[in-house]
Order: sequence, then C-alpha cells, then structure tokens
Amino acid sequence: MTVISGASGTGKGTVCKKLLAELPQMFYSISATTRKPRPGEVDGKEYFFITVEKFKTWLAEEKFLEHAEVYGNFYGTPAHIIEEKRNSGVDVLLEIDVQGALNVMKKCPDGVYIFLLPPSLNELCNRIKNRGTESPEVLQRRIDSATAEIAVGKNYQYVVVNDTVDAAVDKIKAILTAERCKVERNLADFEHFENSATN
Ligand code: 5GP
Repeated sequence: MTVISGASGTGKGTVCKKLLAELPQMFYSISATTRKPRPGEVDGKEYFFITVEKFKTWLAEEKFLEHAEVYGNFYGTPAHIIEEKRNSGVDVLLEIDVQGALNVMKKCPDGVYIFLLPPSLNELCNRIKNRGTESPEVLQRRIDSATAEIAVGKNYQYVVVNDTVDAAVDKIKAILTAERCKVERNLADFEHFENSATN
C-alpha cells in the first residue's frame, strides 16, 4: 500500500493521475467525502460524494480504514475494498491528508508513505490561488493549513519535491521499485534459491 500526501496545491492530484496512467496495475482508492463536487468532478470517480448523515452511518459501521475532517468536510477511505485488493496482491494507492496518513501508519506499518512537497511557499500560494475554485475564505484557510501540514511531512518515509510532474512521478516509481526489492518483501526468493540449490 502506497500513501501519498501533500498540502493543498502541491499538485498531488496531477502527480497521482500520471502515476496511475504509468502503473495501470495499481488500484486507486476512491475516498468518500461530504464535500460538494467541484465542476467536472463525477460521483464514483474522484470521490463518492455522500451526505454528512451517510458518512456518520458508515463511520459507526466501521466502514473506514481511516477518516479525517479536512477544511470543514469529512473524508474517509473505504476499508473493505483496500483489504480485498491487498489480500489479492494488488498494489493500492491512497491519496489522503496527513491526519489520515498518520493513522494508517499505525495500522499498516508495512505501507510506503510518501510526502509531496511544493518547491516553495510562494509557489504553493500561487498554485492554490490559480485554482480559483474556492471562496476567498476557503483559499486563505488552505494556505494557512499548508505550513502546518508540511511540518507533519517529516514523519513520512520519503519526500518528493514536486518541481515538475514528470520528475516527481519518476521519483515515486523509483521508490516503489526500491520498496519491491526490500529483503523483507522477498524472503520467498531466498527460499526458492535455497531449495533450487539442493535439487
Ligand atoms: P480535496 O477536497 O481538495 O479533494 O482534498 C482535500 C484534502 O483531503 C486533500 O489533502 C486530500 O488528500 C484529502 N483527502 C482526500 N481523501 C481523503 C481520505 O479518504 N482521507 C483523508 N484523511 N484525507 C483525504
């Protein structure tokens, strides 16, 4: 399981989209949210857009692997689909906020945790403003939260500066390749070698 986080405006969405296009075997976890869809967003594609009541019901029924309140809206990762995919050996990608990621780290210490960093605070502010899809109050709140979120990034295993999307995606792919080569994930290869040596 790979978890990618980064402050609003870091370009997570773009990076994750490109990563998924290049790694089509990877499963993207679609979160549930009580946020209203932005223009162009489709229910069941970017998110499952649900009511606060439904979110609370799912929460009570323990349907989320993790959940968090971000900028006044609730977000949660549906647990059953993640479990199903992981059990069948499929790579899973979660794009979630830092609070959710810290909780997943406790539950899934074998996950790969990557923090995406914008090149600079100025660049981050510009990216958030250029989006232009939120009210001025929401924009200010997002800029204010960014610095605090970035400080939490120090708890991740990897940091990738999103200078350009291509370079960031290449670095993430390199991280995943290195993770796949870890001894602890490949003990069966040793066993296979040892068995083949005695035959
Ligand atoms: P946005 O509303 O801009 O799509 O996302 C706002 C924030 O919520 C982003 O930081 C995004 O990563 C985070 N987010 C999206 N889905 C989830 C989720 O299921 N759980 C948590 N904890 N955060 C999420």
